[in-house]
Amino acid sequence: MIDLNSSSPSLSISPSRQFLFDAIVVGAGIIGLAHAALLARQGKRVLVLEREQRAIGASVRNFGMIWPIGQPLGPMRDMAMRSRDLWKEILDESGTWYEAKGSLHLAYADDELEVLREFVDLAQEEPEGPAIVSPEEASRMSPPIRQEGLRGAMYSPSELCVDPRLTASSLTRHLSERWDVTFRFGMSVTDIRSGIVKVGSEVFEADEVFVCVGPTPGDLFPELLWDRGVKLCKLQMMRARPKSPNYRIGPHLCAGLTLLHYNNFEPCPSLSWVRDRFASELPEYLENHIHLLVSQHGDGALTIGDSHEYGRSFAPFSDDRIDQLILDYLDTFLPCEEFEIVQRWQGFYPKHPTESFLVESPFPGVTVVNVLSGIGMTLSFGLADHVLKSEVRA
Ligand SMILES: Cc1cc2nc3c(=O)[nH]c(=O)nc-3n(C[C@H](O)[C@H](O)[C@H](O)COP(=O)(O)OP(=O)(O)OC[C@H]3O[C@@H](n4cnc5c(N)ncnc54)[C@H](O)[C@@H]3O)c2cc1C
Repeated sequence: MIDLNSSSPSLSISPSRQFLFDAIVVGAGIIGLAHAALLARQGKRVLVLEREQRAIGASVRNFGMIWPIGQPLGPMRDMAMRSRDLWKEILDESGTWYEAKGSLHLAYADDELEVLREFVDLAQEEPEGPAIVSPEEASRMSPPIRQEGLRGAMYSPSELCVDPRLTASSLTRHLSERWDVTFRFGMSVTDIRSGIVKVGSEVFEADEVFVCVGPTPGDLFPELLWDRGVKLCKLQMMRARPKSPNYRIGPHLCAGLTLLHYNNFEPCPSLSWVRDRFASELPEYLENHIHLLVSQHGDGALTIGDSHEYGRSFAPFSDDRIDQLILDYLDTFLPCEEFEIVQRWQGFYPKHPTESFLVESPFPGVTVVNVLSGIGMTLSFGLADHVLKSEVRA
């Protein structure tokens, strides 16, 4: 742990092993990889230090949704769209699988469709903005969805799908081979000061340090997270294998509960009707912060989730009851007999009630970057671009 009040760093550079780089990135999740990629493109010599033998955090446990539609209109959507464009560049450059699938918000109730209409009106000036589509059009885009009761949908063309299990390793390989980024795995950083990063007794030097350690920056800079009301969020997730090899959902899918989850819908006047209805019809879903997202990857597998539990530490067990609630709601718009669940896991990210990300410089030349919500895949490259261009780093 680092004493942020101390003015005289206690670290000294070991004469035994020194590595000279322009920048050190701590953490090889997507936020660290995005910083490494953009720094390398600027011609910087970059070292990435990762605690695990390979990335196993939120960046490989998510839906793989690059989801600008979930961002409030304005600067956050602009950052997400910039991020989406940078994602495309790096995915194309590295030959990593992705699809520009777009997304469908399905409405099975009139108040849900009204919220979607209101949102489309607000977003009409946006490049690649969303549009309302009829039930027939939605079913053409996504043949497996339930047609009974479908009132309409909002289609957004701006979303990408990546397979997070492939992307982290593919980008790591690409950055190493194409951009000469040095990766050291199994290196748990224990101390950081201006220009100096320590892993046990091993010391690394660079002009700049970027700390991108996901839900655990509290280990290195506890004041930055816990003292300002950040909690951890635990999510339950599932992967499913369709029974038919030809099963395709098309765009990313979600339905009514998702309207309550992303704050992009907050300005829509009808949202309060939807919230009140779900509070009386599906209170367990609101208590467990469950909403439904489904993505489909190149191998046909579906990623399904999720629930949200907030705290500082959690029981290490998944709750079957929550998985069942997730599947029950999923079945209201995507018949579950078409696939079987083959994996279940938990994921974690830091969550702040109002802030989307944190960029802080606890020491000159040291920048801590953390996404404080479940949107880090979407924001990653846009946030790194913002950090590297802006004055936020001292
Ligand atoms: C279940 C789930 C679903 C999600 N779905 C989506 C989605 O579809 N779209 C979206 O936009 N966002 C999604 N998110 C959010 C997104 O995945 C995260 O915001 C993002 O992955 C955070 O990336 P990161 O690099 O900050 O963290 P991480 O991926 O956790 O990476 C941090 C890395 O730092 C390393 N590290 C930690 N401490 C040290 C240390 N001391 N020394 C060295 N290395 C260290 C860790 O080992 C880890 O590899 C989801 C999150 C979860 C959990």
